[in-house]
Amino acid sequence: MYDPLISAGPGHAAAWPDSYWADTAGAAPADDGPVSCDMSVDVAIIGGGYTGLSAAYHLVKEQGVEAVVLEANGTGWGCSGRNGGFALKAGGRLSWQKMVRRFGSDQAQQMFGEIYNGLERVRGLIRDEGIDCDQQPDGHLWVAHRPRMMAAAREEQRFLQTQFGYATQLLSADELAQQHFISDEACGALRYSDGFGVHPLKLAWGYHRLARAAGARIHTASPVQSWRKEGGYHLLETPGGVVRAKTVICATNGYTAPGLTPLLKNRTFPVLSNVIVTRPLTEQELAATGFQSSDVIADTRTLRFYYRKLPDNRILIGGRSAITGRDAANPKHNNNLLQALKRKFSALQDLTFDYQWGGWVSLSFDEMPHIHQSEDGSVLYAMGYGGSGVTFAVQAGARLAEKVAGRTAGHGLPILSSALPKFPLAPFRRLGQQALYHYYYARDERR
Ligand SMILES: Cc1cc2nc3c(=O)[nH]c(=O)nc-3n(C[C@H](O)[C@H](O)[C@H](O)COP(=O)(O)OP(=O)(O)OC[C@H]3O[C@@H](n4cnc5c(N)ncnc54)[C@H](O)[C@@H]3O)c2cc1C
Repeated sequence: MYDPLISAGPGHAAAWPDSYWADTAGAAPADDGPVSCDMSVDVAIIGGGYTGLSAAYHLVKEQGVEAVVLEANGTGWGCSGRNGGFALKAGGRLSWQKMVRRFGSDQAQQMFGEIYNGLERVRGLIRDEGIDCDQQPDGHLWVAHRPRMMAAAREEQRFLQTQFGYATQLLSADELAQQHFISDEACGALRYSDGFGVHPLKLAWGYHRLARAAGARIHTASPVQSWRKEGGYHLLETPGGVVRAKTVICATNGYTAPGLTPLLKNRTFPVLSNVIVTRPLTEQELAATGFQSSDVIADTRTLRFYYRKLPDNRILIGGRSAITGRDAANPKHNNNLLQALKRKFSALQDLTFDYQWGGWVSLSFDEMPHIHQSEDGSVLYAMGYGGSGVTFAVQAGARLAEKVAGRTAGHGLPILSSALPKFPLAPFRRLGQQALYHYYYARDERR
């Protein structure tokens, strides 16, 4: 598997991974084909995931600026076509409580608003533009995997109410069983009334269609293999021609190769997350688990498992995976996910899975997403969403478009206008990751 800490780039015209999403998304939308000659553009966007497609759409539609997307493979080939499809009020890994401690109440309140706008922007685009992406009813469960975690859920509920005036529902184990599912492991849950499941690749292709309909060009199979600046222009070399751009948006996120731009050197940490999708549950299994909920679900582990029942009664479950791309195909990672599911639902001992895949989530050192514009204004990026980019990437794309157009009123928040911090001791990131996995595992599984 492509390893963004080691490989030269994410490939060239590679097929989408063999995922449940790719299998059920239908035909890929029409695009502008590979770059086939040298060209000059106002804004070149490297990367055709949610960030790049949203930036292209908002640039053309709202800012009247020419935008061209350069995607190494097909749109949604990276995280945007591989994720769990949890559209949440979230951005990055920083907890709301940490955010208040770090930035104070007022700024945290504004960031809460910005992140909420991300969720509402996605909801609005799906609704107003009629994106067909199997949107599920709202509901997001945070399930206590140990009795002691109910105290954490209670505290989170109190905190969200007093700090942000945001109401949640605390469910006992019995209420969870009656209203959602019967799980051997669940001790209760905190339920957020917003957040919903989607088909992530259909959603990415929905943005693709919107961006092209608005007038953006999307060149697939067009990896940027080198990038230099000459006479005030950026020259992006692709196999089919050189793209000369006044402004470049780097929307490569967890798939950013080390040599792409010095602006990002040692500022992102790609971490693998794996997903399996089971065969459809039988009527008996549905009855035994009482699984009636279409909510998106995560447990309270730091190394959390995220799961949801899909519209065709399969279960998708994801979680941490290998440390390196080389170890990604090791079957133990997917078996861990299956075993975790069986621990949660003892009635599913015969369950098998039909699909498996993984993708690179981009972590930032301070656990927050960052949107940044270089001093001369001609290079921008947005990334570091952790496992929570389905909504914030789209918000970031709109903010990137505003920055390109010089409309930066209201961009003062750290998540909207600051560079990703460098990782200290960057060459040892993976050693640290391994040590943290052991530590978190021991802490998570403690009774
Ligand atoms: C397994 C998994 C599950 C996840 N689940 C969720 C979830 O349920 N909810 C949630 O909110 N978030 C989730 N995430 C994270 C979320 O998917 C991402 O944050 C989001 O999709 C990032 O979008 P993006 O456009 O920034 O990056 P990506 O979608 O990764 O797009 C980057 C693109 O850049 C292209 N690229 C890279 N280098 C070059 C180059 N040199 N030239 C041209 N193109 C290039 C790549 O091919 C890729 O298509 C998950 C991630 C993974 C991996």
